[in-house]
Amino acid sequence: MPSLFSLSRGHGGTHVAIVVLCGVWLLALLTLSDLDPAPLKTLRIVTESGDAVVETRYNPLGFLLLGVLAAAACGGGVLLARFFSQSASRHTHPSSAETVASASDTLARELATVLAVVRGSIANKEAYARSLADAQARLVGLTEAEQVRVIVSLLVAENERMRLASVEGQRRIEASAREIQTLQESLRGAETAALTDPLTGSGNRRQFDVAMQKAVEASNADQTALSLIMCDIDHFKRVNDQFGHHVGDEIIKALAGVIGANVRETDTVARYGGEEFAVILPLSGQEAARATAERIRAQFGAKQFAVRETKEKIGHLSASFGVAEHRPGDDAETLVKRADAKLYDAKEGGRDRVAVSTGGD
Ligand code: GH3
Ligand code: MG
Ligand code: MG
Repeated sequence: MPSLFSLSRGHGGTHVAIVVLCGVWLLALLTLSDLDPAPLKTLRIVTESGDAVVETRYNPLGFLLLGVLAAAACGGGVLLARFFSQSASRHTHPSSAETVASASDTLARELATVLAVVRGSIANKEAYARSLADAQARLVGLTEAEQVRVIVSLLVAENERMRLASVEGQRRIEASAREIQTLQESLRGAETAALTDPLTGSGNRRQFDVAMQKAVEASNADQTALSLIMCDIDHFKRVNDQFGHHVGDEIIKALAGVIGANVRETDTVARYGGEEFAVILPLSGQEAARATAERIRAQFGAKQFAVRETKEKIGHLSASFGVAEHRPGDDAETLVKRADAKLYDAKEGGRDRVAVSTGGD
């Protein structure tokens, strides 16, 4: 399964546009907030052998806050780009649209929070810098220890105010980071749901298309074996007609279970249509794929089905299989067509069998 951050091909323009938009939006917000680079520096008073000296140092907290804000904007942009591209390619699932809308809201809210923290921190540092400059001016020419002590007390109070403000800023940024992580998980969940067949838990047609494209590209690039099995339950209409659609659904689930138990982690099982499944087997030649299909056929055919509620006997069912191996230069469509043609041959040949594409077809 593709990671959330691995952007799929074909939507590169959209991704770049959304990420750039987020960046421009961030820059615009920072510009509107009158960002002055001065708060990225901190004025510090250093006393060396009784002399008061004011020096300027770069403030790591200022840079950290800006870094977090930039990372949040870019990360959010990538997340949304990824999700928008998925929604577009599955013709916008209604629940996906809701997830995207709520993801945008959450991201906007969290960016506003982090921005408020940064702006608050900048304002605080400006006030702090003014206090220090004021103290510096008042220190000039002081001779009384008591007068110096008063100024030092004021500075201690000012330092404490700054410390508390930065603790609060950090707390809010951490809360924001947690919120963005939750958002990322919910987008991941939506992404998985969009690729899964709800009845069987296998991949759906979209997952098949994505996995098939990748598998064919890998096979062409690395010159490795790749096979495809297409499988369809025999005379399934009769089951539906005689026992009802919900019984038919249970049989589809049973076939998905048998297929899942007979393939490797690296294989992709997808419900291709009503009671038709496809299995993509990377690094498998046609003989290995034929053996897998045979095992599935035998195990599914050995099952005795009955209606759960009434115990009415359904008996044995069978399925037919078409197997094709990738040939140099094949694209996904060619390979699917060849496996499908073999499935048709298996049906024509009497069903309950595996037909394998050979060099001649
Ligand atoms: P064949 O041996 O030629 O495959 O005969 P068949 O009756 O199985 O024919 P076909 O594969 O064309 O029929 C598929 C049937 O599957 C038609 C449709 O009513 C049924 N079907 C499609 N999707 C579902 C589903 O989600 N649940 C159930 N219960 N039935 C479905
Ligand atoms: Mg059928
Ligand atoms: Mg069918």
